[in-house]
Amino acid sequence: MSHLPPSHSNRYHGLTVIDESDFPQACACSRSYANLEQFLTGTTPVEGDTDLSDTSHFREKSIGVWRNCQCGSTMLVVCKDRRDSSENGQSYRRRFGKAMTMLKAAGFSADEARAKLLALDSKS
Ligand SMILES: [Zn+2]
Repeated sequence: MSHLPPSHSNRYHGLTVIDESDFPQACACSRSYANLEQFLTGTTPVEGDTDLSDTSHFREKSIGVWRNCQCGSTMLVVCKDRRDSSENGQSYRRRFGKAMTMLKAAGFSADEARAKLLALDSKS
């Protein structure tokens, strides 16, 4: 491998699965991925810069995450498009930024703060 893949915690930050019943994702090779986190860590990005693609023609405000299973098969999971420019998306980003500032002020590192917020977010 000529370069390290970008960390999924950055590149895939904020993605949430539209349809929870997409998981577990089972591949024809019998591997299965229990959730988005496992899917992103257990697979490799597809070639080029096409691992994230707009799938709103398929489902409104959605983004497709294309990943290769370890067997080489390409798999797709449809997520909510985090690049949501609506009121909701903007106020979410503002709240996120504010919470990050507060956590950092409380002594957490940026990574710890982000992990905390993402954990909270996944429960809501
Ligand atoms: Zn497979």
